[in-house]
Amino acid sequence: MEAMATAQIEGRIQRVKQGVREIAYMTGVSSGCTGFLNATDRLNRTGLYAFIGHHVVPVGEDAHILSADRLYDRLVHLRKHFDMVSAAEALAWLRDPEPGERLATITFDDGYRDNLTVGLKVLEAASAPATCFVATEPILTGKPFWFDLVRSAVAEGPNAAMSVPWVRAIAEQGGRHLADALVHELNQLPPAARDARVAEFADTLDYDIGSMPPHLQPLSPGELTDLASSPLITIGAHTHTHSTVSCCSEEQLRDELTQNVTALEQLTGRRPHLFAYPKGATETSSFEIASLLEEVQLQAAFTTQRQINRMKSDPWLLGRFPLGAGPVSQFAWELMQLSF
Ligand SMILES: [Zn+2]
Repeated sequence: MEAMATAQIEGRIQRVKQGVREIAYMTGVSSGCTGFLNATDRLNRTGLYAFIGHHVVPVGEDAHILSADRLYDRLVHLRKHFDMVSAAEALAWLRDPEPGERLATITFDDGYRDNLTVGLKVLEAASAPATCFVATEPILTGKPFWFDLVRSAVAEGPNAAMSVPWVRAIAEQGGRHLADALVHELNQLPPAARDARVAEFADTLDYDIGSMPPHLQPLSPGELTDLASSPLITIGAHTHTHSTVSCCSEEQLRDELTQNVTALEQLTGRRPHLFAYPKGATETSSFEIASLLEEVQLQAAFTTQRQINRMKSDPWLLGRFPLGAGPVSQFAWELMQLSF
């Protein structure tokens, strides 16, 4: 009874907070008030603000995933307060930053089909450039991303998943949601060991990948070529099998990166210059990541650390903020908290 009352109060507080954000957004409080800024403030506001998303779904398809109309609203809002730049322009600014400039750049990770079928149309409507960081194995094989397969299989048959011994062992540790725990554990394994476990898991469950939700479909090779041909789109590297750099040896990561940039160059006609760390993990076991990224001719790398990229930021550890999926008033409100 008491827990229910607390939940009701919490729900009411959240609704009031969202109401305040809506009013602030509608009345222009989120406009930034740049006219009142002094020189120090201007310097504080200088930076490259990068944003990360994964999917863009048709309007109203899933409230928890960024929809086309909400992406459009975000782009319109960003355009009011920032210079929207491409990856190449962002890279140029990082090398030669100008005090007072405030840039925004949009990124999407992984390489989902909806980046082309839904996202590109929105970017075109808003004339906004974006970078898509693509893991190439799912593109070339037509199989889903391994973590989507695991999550979907667990959602469909949590009891069946428990028949796999290593899944049961992880479940018995308790703590987090089973799908999150499995993906977390698999992210700690080297690529070959992880793939063997995922294959065993899918085989045991006899999971039909055709039953996965459409938004989890990766781009096909032809679709990646189409996406890359848009003047608004830059394609970046994201490893071949979406492996975190922390679970790879130097040799394994070199192989992941080489396969990734080679396939991307073949499919798009351009060698990628930017990298996004899968899962945002930047720590390696024993080798220097920047020199390995440089070896494959990459020039900068994005993490998922929520930070503004300032004039002296390390180009191998660039921050990004989530695009999120909620109303634009919420996005604008969170952005405003950063800017002051
Ligand atoms: Zn990713």
